Amino acid sequence: MSQSRFAIAPSSAPPAAIAAPRFASGREAALELRPDQPVYCFRPHVLAADARAFLDAFPGKTAYAVKTNGEPMVLDVLARAGISAFDVASPAEFAAARAAAPGAELLYMHPVKAQSDIRLALEHYRIRSTALDHEDEVAKIVRIVRALDLDPEDLTLFVRIASKGDAAYELSKKFGAAPGHAAELLQRIHGIGITCGLCFHVGSQVEDPDTYARAVAVAAEVRAAAGVPIVALDVGGGFPATYAHNPRRPAPPMPPLADIISGLMGAVERHGFAGTPLVAEPGRVIVARSFSVIVRVLLKKGQRLYINDGVWSSLSDSWTGKILLPVRHIPDPARRRRPGRGASGSSRIEPFRIYGATCDSVDVLSRPFYLPESVDTGDWIEIGHIGAYSLSLRTRFNGFYPDTFVEVETPFEAGDAPEGFAEPERRGGVEE
Ligand SMILES: *Cc1c(COP(=O)(O)O)cnc(C)c1O
Repeated sequence: MSQSRFAIAPSSAPPAAIAAPRFASGREAALELRPDQPVYCFRPHVLAADARAFLDAFPGKTAYAVKTNGEPMVLDVLARAGISAFDVASPAEFAAARAAAPGAELLYMHPVKAQSDIRLALEHYRIRSTALDHEDEVAKIVRIVRALDLDPEDLTLFVRIASKGDAAYELSKKFGAAPGHAAELLQRIHGIGITCGLCFHVGSQVEDPDTYARAVAVAAEVRAAAGVPIVALDVGGGFPATYAHNPRRPAPPMPPLADIISGLMGAVERHGFAGTPLVAEPGRVIVARSFSVIVRVLLKKGQRLYINDGVWSSLSDSWTGKILLPVRHIPDPARRRRPGRGASGSSRIEPFRIYGATCDSVDVLSRPFYLPESVDTGDWIEIGHIGAYSLSLRTRFNGFYPDTFVEVETPFEAGDAPEGFAEPERRGGVEE
C-alpha cells in the first residue's frame, strides 16, 4: 500500500507502520482536512460487525466475494473478523485473498476461466473448488487435473444453474446452465470421479426473499434429474445492503437479513437440502456500510451539483444499479452567507441532479441526492454505504482517480441524521 493513499502520511515511517489518519466521523474528517479530492472513510469496526452478523446469521460456510471490494485493508479486517473463505475469480484475487488470509480457503467460482488461470489455481494456490456451466469447461479442468496428476475426487466442481432472480442486477442472463443441461453436467463430472456441487447466484441487492427459494427449488429439480451425490449447495451472493430511499415516498419494504436467510433455510429444508453443507458468497451485505466518500461540490447551478467524483470513480454502482445512496450535507463553515435558508435557519430538502468530475456527458448519476437547498459550491457531501462495487470499479478516465483514505470510528448513520438517508423515523422531520 503506497503512502499516497492516506490523507496524511508520515514520510519516514516504513509502509507497515503507516496507519490512515483517524477521525470520529466523516464530518470531522471533512472539516479538518478540507479536502478538494474525494476522501474514502473506512470504518473497520462496522466492517467487522457486519461480517460477524453474516457469519452468525448464515448456517454454512461464508465465502466473501472479493470482487465486491478487494482492498487489502478490507480483506485484512475480514480475516480478523473470522471470515475464513473467499470467493475469488482471477489470479489477482487469488493473490489478494491469500496475502490477507494465508490459511483461508479459496473458492474459484467464476464459471468461465482461462486454461492458464485454472492451472495457477490448482497448482500454485491449491484451490479445490470451482464452478462451471458448460462441458468444455469440464474438459479444460480435466486436462489440468491429469497434467498435475491430482486425485479427481479432491476437486469439487459446482455446476452453476441459471435461476430467474429479482435483483437490482440480474446475473443469470450471463451464466448458468438450464436445469436439464445442469443435470447432464453433474452426471458427466460424477462419471469422471470428480466431486459434485451445485451453485447459483441470483444477482445483487436481492430484496425479494422468494428469489432464493425459487433457486433452491431449481437446484432440487437438477439434483433429482442427475441422481448423483451433491456434497454442497452454494447459494451465491445477492444479500441486500441498506441504502436510502426517496424521502417523499413511503419507504419500500426492505426485509432484514434474518428474514432473507430464514426464507432461504425454509426452502433448503422443504427441498431436501437440510443435510447438504451450504456455502454463501456475500459481498455487498458485508462491505457496503464500511465506506463512505467525502466529495466536494465544485459548482452549483440551480438544482444541479457538479462534484469531484462520479460514475467513472466511486459512483458507478449508483448509476447502473438504480441504488439511491444515503448522503449528508457538510456545509463549509468558512462560507457565512447562505441563500436558501428560511427564517428558522432550516433548509428544505430538495432533490439535486449530480454531475460527475469527468467531461463525459454520461457522467451523471441516474438518481438524485436529497440535500438541503442551502447546499452550495465549496460544501462537502458525505456519501454513505459505498463500500460495495465503488472502490473496485474506479477508473482513471480523464485522469481522475480517488485514492485517499482515512479511518472513521462511528457508523455513517450515527450522529445527526443524514439528509438523503431518509430513514422512516426521520420522514416527519423533512419539510415538503
Ligand atoms: C458478485 C458475486 C457475488 C457477490 O454478490 P453480492 O451481491 O455483492 O453479494 C457472489 N457470487 C458471485 C458468483 C458473484 O459473481
